[in-house]
Amino acid sequence: MNSDNDSGVTVTLGEDYPEIREGVRRICADFPGEYWRDIDRREAYPTEFVKAMSDAGYLASLIPEEFGGAGLPMRAAGVILQECHANGCYAAACHAQMYTMGTLLRHGSPEQKAKYLPKIASGELRLQAFGVTEPTTGTDTTRLKTRAVRDGEHYVVTGQKVWISRAAHSDLMLLLARTTPFDDQDPSRKKTDGLSVFLVDMREARGNGMEIRPLSAMINHNATEIFFDGLRVPRENLIGTEGKGFRCILDGMNAERILVSHESIGDAQWFIRTASKYATERIVFDRPIGQNQGVQFPIARAYAEMQGADMMLRKAAALFEAGRPCGEDANVAKLLASEAAWHAAEACMQTHGGFGYAREYDVERRWRESRIQQIAPISTNLVLAYIGEHVLGMPRSY
Ligand SMILES: Cc1cc2nc3c(=O)[nH]c(=O)nc-3n(C[C@H](O)[C@H](O)[C@H](O)COP(=O)(O)OP(=O)(O)OC[C@H]3O[C@@H](n4cnc5c(N)ncnc54)[C@H](O)[C@@H]3O)c2cc1C
Repeated sequence: MNSDNDSGVTVTLGEDYPEIREGVRRICADFPGEYWRDIDRREAYPTEFVKAMSDAGYLASLIPEEFGGAGLPMRAAGVILQECHANGCYAAACHAQMYTMGTLLRHGSPEQKAKYLPKIASGELRLQAFGVTEPTTGTDTTRLKTRAVRDGEHYVVTGQKVWISRAAHSDLMLLLARTTPFDDQDPSRKKTDGLSVFLVDMREARGNGMEIRPLSAMINHNATEIFFDGLRVPRENLIGTEGKGFRCILDGMNAERILVSHESIGDAQWFIRTASKYATERIVFDRPIGQNQGVQFPIARAYAEMQGADMMLRKAAALFEAGRPCGEDANVAKLLASEAAWHAAEACMQTHGGFGYAREYDVERRWRESRIQQIAPISTNLVLAYIGEHVLGMPRSY
């Protein structure tokens, strides 16, 4: 549970980072609903939007200045993503760079950082793919089967990943693979030992032992399956120590939770604004439908939930920035924000009646998109399992 050490950590209220918010809103104004509807229909990648965000430097917000980024705090990066979603855009197309970059920054060698971070910061290279999930092991990451076997100055990778977002539109991928098979591990070692992280250059790998196949899904997340059949990854692309890769991605997970939760808050804001407007303007039985408590109260309740989640999220971001333990706060914020967004989405859909189904209103698309936050990058049950075990001290449930 949180300790007294949290005193002295400051949480800002209101519209913090107003200049960033204004700048992101200006970009979003150039990418209205028609743009996203078209991208969604074609299952395409929003290249123009990602370029605009890169050119403005927003995707490099967390990269330190010495590597060409803005070196901003976690909360500022979250505000960027939140504003995208609050203004009808879909930052999930490019958000991964913000947290995958952290693994390289914290665990990469000086040579790796010098080689890649400035190009990621400038937008010359995209690090948008993060390869963890596998078809047969799912949430049980320690059991993943993709193998990386040392062969001289290379590792030879064989295996399969699933649901890897943006892989076809990324130059680089962080890949988690087993350098020691789970069953060959010394029983005294941790289950997470034997996993290693690699930076895969997708441009060289495609067609040379790595194949990417698109996965058609309920939302346009540019999801893919990736097949590895003897892909040779140079040894110099191992990040951190061989066999200790889980630790390298673990400390990025709180950052990931905090960042994606900002998108949920942005989603909730969009749904609440859109629903309130429609409920006020739509006349049925000679009065605005929002005059009925059955229509008004779910929207008001969603607003209250969103405000609560937002406070929790600000706290998590502040603790992260102060370098304090924030696992509890990041997980609680993730749970509350993802549910607040979904309740707002439901209220918005219901308020629109049949028009909620009309594509031109964007409600159905954004309703589909907001649901993902309860499943990926981590499902609600696993967040609850974290709270049950690590916060409340109950037995591990898995
Ligand atoms: C659109 C999309 C994009 C994604 N992008 C990426 C990506 O870029 N990179 C990547 O690596 N992965 C990605 N994922 C994968 C995502 O992280 C996983 O889908 C998610 O972690 C759940 O894993 P699973 O689908 O294998 O579910 P499973 O592990 O099969 O679980 C199914 C259900 O059972 C529940 N469950 C399982 N075990 C337990 C337990 N012990 N206790 C309680 N409940 C349990 C889960 O909570 C879940 O609800 C993406 C998924 C989607 C849908």
